[in-house]
This record gives sequence, C-alpha cells and structure tokens, in this order.
Amino acid sequence: MCSRDPASNQLIDFKNNDSEAPKECTTSSGAPIGVKDAIQTVGPRGPALLQDFHFLDEMMSFDRERIPERVAYAKGAGAFGYFECTHDITKFCAASIFDKVKKRTAIAMRFSVACGENGSADTVREQRGFSLKFYTDDGIWDIVGCNMPVYYLRDPSLFPSLIHAQKRNPQTHLRDPDMFWDFMTLRPETLHALVIYFSDRGTPDGYRHMHGYGVHTYRMVNASGETQYVKFHFKTDQGIKNLDSRRCEELMSHDPDYSIRDLYNSIKKGNYPSWSMYIQVMLNEEAKKCRFNPFDATKVWPQKDYPLIPVGKIILDRNPTNYFTEIEQLAFSPAHMVPGIEASPDKMLQGRLFSYGDTQRHRLGGNYMQIPVNCPYRVNVRNFQRDGPMTVTDNQNGAPNYFPNSFCGPKESSRALALQTCCPLTGDVYRFMSGDTEDNFSQVTDFWTYTLDNCGRKRLIRNLSDHLTEASQFLQERAVKLFTMVHSDFGRLMTEALNTARISKF
Ligand code: NDP
Repeated sequence: MCSRDPASNQLIDFKNNDSEAPKECTTSSGAPIGVKDAIQTVGPRGPALLQDFHFLDEMMSFDRERIPERVAYAKGAGAFGYFECTHDITKFCAASIFDKVKKRTAIAMRFSVACGENGSADTVREQRGFSLKFYTDDGIWDIVGCNMPVYYLRDPSLFPSLIHAQKRNPQTHLRDPDMFWDFMTLRPETLHALVIYFSDRGTPDGYRHMHGYGVHTYRMVNASGETQYVKFHFKTDQGIKNLDSRRCEELMSHDPDYSIRDLYNSIKKGNYPSWSMYIQVMLNEEAKKCRFNPFDATKVWPQKDYPLIPVGKIILDRNPTNYFTEIEQLAFSPAHMVPGIEASPDKMLQGRLFSYGDTQRHRLGGNYMQIPVNCPYRVNVRNFQRDGPMTVTDNQNGAPNYFPNSFCGPKESSRALALQTCCPLTGDVYRFMSGDTEDNFSQVTDFWTYTLDNCGRKRLIRNLSDHLTEASQFLQERAVKLFTMVHSDFGRLMTEALNTARISKF
C-alpha cells in the first residue's frame, strides 16, 4: 500500500474517513431505492416497464453527463489556495486585493493543455493554460494566462483559424502538420510564440514547474485616478523544469495524466506549489514613445527597460473535492475585472473579453456565474439581471428589477465611480491589417541570440525539425525562409537539420 501515491489511494481515504455506515441510495427526487441491480419487468425475462422511474431517472442523468468540451484548453487540472500581497503596489493600483501587505485573497487555478481533447496526453508539446480566479472583496478578477509570455496573434480575427490549424483535419480527423505549418508560416507574427513553443519550455515537467504570464497588457488605476499599463508575471517557486522529448513520449504511453497526477499528489502530500507574482509597469508617456507596440500580444516588454516589480505570492493548498463541480465548471473570462484594473487597447485581449464569457455561456448556461465555484461569494451580487435557465439563487427576491427606481433597489458604487478613468480616443474606423505592418522579427532574434544558449538553440532546432519534417516540402521551405529572417544561423541550421531528417527517412 505504501508504494501507492495519494491519488491512487483516493477511494481508500474516502472509505477510511467516512466512519458511518454507508448511507441509503436514493433517486434524484430523494426516494429511497430498495433494489439497485434489477429493472422492473413483466416476469423474470422482461419486457421492461416505462413506469420504472428508478431506472429511467438514472439513465436520463447518465445521458446528459457530458457538457460541451472547451473548444481550446479542454484538458486540465485545478486547485485552490490564496494570494498573499507581499509588496505595496498601491501607488500603481487601487484594486482591493493589493490594499495591504499580508492581505490574503482566496483563489482558484486551472492549468491546461491548449489543443488536445479532454482525453489527450499531458506531456505533448503545446502551450499550457495558466488561469487564475481571485475571489476578491470587490468581486471576481480573472487572469486567463498561459506559460508563454506572448501569444501567436495580435488581432483576434484569426483566433478560430489558429486553433483549427492546430486541431484535427476536418476530413481525416488527424492532427495535420500541413495545416499547422501552413497557417503559422502564412502569419509571421506567430514566430515569437512558435520559437518558445519549440524551445525547452514547450514541454514543462507538469504544471508546478512552469512560469505563468498574463500575456496581455492591462491598465492599473491608483486611488488618485492615475493610470499605467501593466503586464503580469508568475514565476514558479519550484524552479523551471522541462521534459525532454524521450521522457515526454514515455509518459504519453505510461502516464498520459502525468501533470494532473503530479499536481494532485503534491498538494495532497502538503507540498503546496507556489508562484511569485510580479508586474511590469509602463507609464502612459512611455507607451506613447515605445519603440514597439505595447498592446501587441506577440511582444514582451524587455525586462531591462521594464523591470519586474514584486507583488505577492500565490499558493495552492487544496485539491478539488469533486473534479466536475469545481474544475470542469470553473469558468474564466478576462472580462472579469475589478475596480483598479482595466483592459488596454490590446486587440487580442479585446477579442478575448467577448469570447471567453460567450463560450462559458454555451458550455454552462446563461447563469454560469451562479455555480458556486464561479460565484463572487465575497460580495452580494445585486443588479437588474433575473431569471434564465437554472436560476438557483433567491433571484434577488422582491428587489426592483429595473433601474432607476424609487424602491431601495441597488445604487451605483461611489468607489467604482471614483476609480473610473477617462480615456481619450480618436481615430479612423477601419480594419487595420497588422500581419506584416508590425515588427515580427526583432524580439524573436533577441530570443535566438541572447535568451537561448548554444545547447538551447540545438534543442530548438531538433524540436522544430522533428515536427516540420512531417509537413510538405514547400511549407518546410517557407518556414526556413522565416527562420533565416530571424537569424541567418537559424535558417542555415534548420536547413541542415531538415536535410538530415530527409536522408534518414529514406
Ligand atoms: P531578459 O534576459 O531580461 O529575460 C529573458 C526571459 O526569458 C526571462 O524571464 C527568462 O525566464 C526567460 N527565458 C529563458 N529561457 C527561456 C525559454 N527557453 N523560453 C522562454 N523564456 C525563457 O530578456 P528580455 O526581457 O529582453 O527578453 C528577451 C527574450 O526573452 C524575449 O524576446 C522573449 O522571447 C523572452 N522572454 C521575455 C520575457 C519578458 O517578459 N521580457 C518573459 C519570458 C521570455 P527566467 O525567469 O526563468 O530566467
């Protein structure tokens, strides 16, 4: 028994902790069930009766067990814990969770794999989701981030195409390297994310050993109403650990749920994972003069120009008590912000502000914010929204459901009003194409030249060529052209690696 890990012992723990005798089973309407292992029939050999509610009740529930899988980031793991503010950042932000050093705020987190389905392996080379829900005393704040500091696109118009190109071919129902490399090489703004995806950090050793990034630019507002732009970083306190491709493959066959198991066992053993939270700050004047577009999700803000400022720690110390209730139904949206935190003009963020809530309404229903794990339980939700399927609250009883009113309905918040900022905007309404009009290469060149060492560059080449060699020849050539634009050595080494791979195929 002692060789079994806590995840394997879950049922034994349940039995041992539940000292009472087993309780009676019931129908969904609460009626006790006398016989569980026989349907009601006419005679011992059947046929069955439509009046057998015990059987129909169970089947009707079973038939409806699955809800739509998330279109992206379907397979995941999650846990609960708290955020502790460790540094005073009130000069930047008036959000209540940063009120005081040592203040703690409850959090939920979900980690995930970007494009695999719910049953896919955890150790594939893919972007990992890194989403945080803060249950603040001003409502829910979600950061819907990932383990890479940049995203593939800066304009959300091609977001569905990006995901389609990485998922299954519509005819063969297979992952298709031609689809992947066709899309990526036709859109050079994907290069920055791609090189990180194919670097060591594309296959993290579980979820505990990777950094998280908010990716987008947000705006913080302080108590005087002054604003600045920020990016969020979460550095793993466990240290970065990645898996090499051989180990990834071993785990795919032996333990496809490696990352879920690792997170669960670590928390169950009291080895609570934590991350240190930092922000980078860019003043409004700096944003105007910045040499790159600070609202471009394919760019990082160089840390020497915009140093990391420590903010706090996130610590996970509780596993879900039920996976479906607490993690499958855990719904994030970057539009869930609190006073003191606002969206920036980042177009990719603007698209996600809409699409995340929209997809959760599809998956979980219009009242998904009433599900306990999504509910801003530290505040009383008071508004003019009512009804809809699965209304499970008191539906705000008899309070007026229209605004304004003369009958003690909810009032506007003076605090939220004070933190409301005035943001002057002018410009032509137009579809501004940005695929080639922004710099797609400089930061990728920096990554190749300065961030990676020689061994890192070699592994990047090998990881890239292993994948690219499966794509059609013309796509390989198009990819090499782009890598050459990043750095001539990059293009040359990729050509050599692809030639070697081609020879070894024959
Ligand atoms: P810095 O040297 O100040 O920072 C480099 C960053 O890269 C560090 O945060 C480091 O993380 C991270 N890093 C190291 N190896 C890898 C890898 N294989 N994959 C992804 N990230 C890695 O340089 P700059 O800020 O000027 O950025 C240079 C390049 O570094 C960028 O073009 C970008 O590609 C990459 N980068 C930049 C980040 C940023 O926010 N500026 C964040 C992450 C990556 P660690 O903390 O573990 O040292």
